[in-house]
Amino acid sequence: MVPPVEMMNKTVLYARVSSKEQQEDGFSIPAQLKLLKEYAAKQGFQIAREFVDVETAKQEGRTSFGQMIGFLKESPSIQNVLVEKTDRLYRNFRDYVTVDDLIANGLTIHLVKESEILGQNSKSHQKFIHGIKVLMAKNYIDNLSEEVKKGMQEKAEQGEYPSTAPIGFRNDAVTHLLVLQEEEGLAIKRLCELFITGNYSLNRLRQAGIDAGLRGRVSGRSLSRSEIERILKNPIYYGAFWWKGRLYQGKHTPIISKELFDLVQRTLADRHRATRAKRHSFTFSGIFRCGYCGCTLSAERHKGKYVYYRCTQSRGPCQQRFLKEELIDEIAAGLVKRIQLEESLLDWLRETLRQSHADEQAFHDAQIEALEEKEKAIQRRLDQIYIDKLDSKITEEFWRQKTDEWRAEQDEIRRRLVLHRQANRSYIEEGVKILELTQHAPAFYLRATPEEKREILKTVLSNCAMKDATPIPVYNKPFCWLVDLAGLEGMRPRRDSNPCRGLERAVS
Ligand SMILES: [Zn+2]
Repeated sequence: MVPPVEMMNKTVLYARVSSKEQQEDGFSIPAQLKLLKEYAAKQGFQIAREFVDVETAKQEGRTSFGQMIGFLKESPSIQNVLVEKTDRLYRNFRDYVTVDDLIANGLTIHLVKESEILGQNSKSHQKFIHGIKVLMAKNYIDNLSEEVKKGMQEKAEQGEYPSTAPIGFRNDAVTHLLVLQEEEGLAIKRLCELFITGNYSLNRLRQAGIDAGLRGRVSGRSLSRSEIERILKNPIYYGAFWWKGRLYQGKHTPIISKELFDLVQRTLADRHRATRAKRHSFTFSGIFRCGYCGCTLSAERHKGKYVYYRCTQSRGPCQQRFLKEELIDEIAAGLVKRIQLEESLLDWLRETLRQSHADEQAFHDAQIEALEEKEKAIQRRLDQIYIDKLDSKITEEFWRQKTDEWRAEQDEIRRRLVLHRQANRSYIEEGVKILELTQHAPAFYLRATPEEKREILKTVLSNCAMKDATPIPVYNKPFCWLVDLAGLEGMRPRRDSNPCRGLERAVS
């Protein structure tokens, strides 16, 4: 008997496909929805709504995904999301964080094809593997949008700026070149000239820009300090431009000379050095907080040589001890060391990742096989029609037309084969690589400069409080999973620890 509606577990379905994938079997929306509905029926879930995204590689936003998040936030009675697998749900880490917040609030994600259920009570190694998969899903999308990027790169090599014109220019739809905006151009040149006098801070320069009438292209508002800085650093104003990490020579009319640009860069570098020397003369300032009152720990020098960190006491008197810099360094090294896994555990993780992608592999392998078969069939046709032409069974013209058509088809198949072979490889390797990289951090920390130590700590730790010499760290993802995994004994998760949530518990 069917239970009454209000007793049933409610769920939403989410399906996604890129226009490219749609051409290939097994990835279509109807197939995804069918799988999800069968699963819902089996679990006795009531389907509240379905959300479907069909997108092109060029298009950034996912309308239905956003609507679904909104819907879930408004409807706390919906406890489940059904989705085919990880890479259908997220495209990047930001999506992941969004969904993860919902999970923390009681939502459960069913990755139907991967037979995985993620909820509040999932084990941390399960969450870790899931996080790694998300990283790889991003990579997978990158492969598919490769084609678009290639087109953009060709454009860049021709000297055409492949994106929206920055302030000072506009795009010309006919010539595809950047067209100088006289007035804005003059204002930008003037800012550069003012800046190299050394008498202008970025804030003062910003004011000068506002006075000259410079407005943000999209916002229409006055430019922010960072927008001013971006203008100063942009080589587009002397005639070149950055595209995907490479500098290209543009065809557009420059606004300033290369010499002026170089002088601006030198002035920027000097300024940067000066502020950095002032701000970060102490290795750990701003990294640790007081475990008693939550204020920051700030550094001061005693007798000209010993560096101590102490609570700023901006919320009143505090019992926090003074801590010597050497001691903090030792503690920090220990915190980084906690992300290190034993070799046997690493092996186990590598294996688990590979197994969890077995069906991804199978999909690509099947596609590769089918495409190879198709390619061979076309080759047989090409051979046959050549013989027909030799035997004068068909005209020269017909032969040429058919040959061109089939050759083009063959090229397309070969191109897709390359994509599938790439995806097959990079999918798992990327994940293993990320995993292995994290393992170098402890050794690297010991040899690092103070500046690098700050970098490592900021990457690994979300924040860390100190109760005298006892650290209460909260690690960033995926490091918190690593810390938890490193503490596993015989693969059993420790009950008493959840490093991602350490601080909240310690404080409450
Ligand atoms: Zn304090």
